[in-house]
Amino acid sequence: MLAIADKRLEPIAEKVAAQERLSFDDGLALYGSSDLATIGSLANRVRERINGDKTYYNINLHINPTNTCFMSCKFCAFGRKAFDDASYILTPEEIVDRARKNLPEGASEIHLVGGLDPRLKIEYYCAWLRALKAAFPHIHIKTLTPVEVVFIAKMSKMTIGDTIGALHEAGMDSMPGGGAEIFDPEIRERICEHKCDAAGWFETHREIHRRGMRTNCTMLIGHLEEPRHRVDHLLRLRAHQDEWGNLKPGGEGGGFQCFIPLSFHPKNTAFAHLPGPSGFDELRNIAVSRLLLDNIPHIKAYWIMLGIKQAQIAQHFGADDIDGTVTHEEIYHDAGATTPQGMTVAEIERIVRDCGRTPVLRDSVYNELKTNEVPG
Ligand code: SF4
Repeated sequence: MLAIADKRLEPIAEKVAAQERLSFDDGLALYGSSDLATIGSLANRVRERINGDKTYYNINLHINPTNTCFMSCKFCAFGRKAFDDASYILTPEEIVDRARKNLPEGASEIHLVGGLDPRLKIEYYCAWLRALKAAFPHIHIKTLTPVEVVFIAKMSKMTIGDTIGALHEAGMDSMPGGGAEIFDPEIRERICEHKCDAAGWFETHREIHRRGMRTNCTMLIGHLEEPRHRVDHLLRLRAHQDEWGNLKPGGEGGGFQCFIPLSFHPKNTAFAHLPGPSGFDELRNIAVSRLLLDNIPHIKAYWIMLGIKQAQIAQHFGADDIDGTVTHEEIYHDAGATTPQGMTVAEIERIVRDCGRTPVLRDSVYNELKTNEVPG
């Protein structure tokens, strides 16, 4: 352990060593400190305690069934209005066709999220879920953020529970964690005013977790939020996991299995005048997340969004997952991401080994898979 430059962090270091839970004020102290070496070292200690030197990744494909969106989130460069020439809605046949053409060898997951179009009801979503399951019965389908589920429920005049029941029956295996943004109602009102609120977001996860299914969770940083909003957000996730998380080895049990810190990318958004988070802030945020979220096993450094170099460094600042091959990413590339739209297994394994970690191929629920049959 390095000497602690910022003496205010000493009581937090003692708590981390004793495996004691950190408080709201501890979170504020961490975000208020520029002693990145100490914060990163503490987070790395927790990361290695939970996940050793492993860095997880998977072989997956991203598909966005539609980019038409009724909302106007200020941080979004992806959604298009229905009258926009660039808007599209893929049919179930087109979604299956896209998967057939692009699914990488060895893939275990298709990740599908999209915009909110009031013309699309539950039947549309169930149709492509059934079509995908029929075509790829062995593939895990991780799909639809809570924001989408709440919207589909409203447009289809269904309860959230019944909507999830229908989606699950049609083929949904788990849910990604998008749409969380920042839970604080004042900030949420200013960045995504019509989106479902924190209560709707958590209700959706609760309905999934009590069915024994897994989800991820996220937080978007680098727009209008302050450190207190981030700490509040993280502690709400932690409290939900205390109540509803029931993760067991082998993919059994429901709950949050991974937290994904997301960085705001300003290009082509209504907040294009904002700079977005600095590299320093991104690393500190990953480390603070690892320290506060003591009951969520994995922290992901999403390479598409952070960039490959930052995602590598993050593996020593609390992150233990780097996402997957991805294959075709649109959401962050519409907002100016300059990363490739996908990586091969060989490339991912190389960048993980290069930062001194052991790459571990996983499925969507963190079962470890063999890599020796997967081509680069
Ligand atoms: S973030 Fe999602 S809900 Fe908001 S405008 Fe973009 S696509 Fe629509």
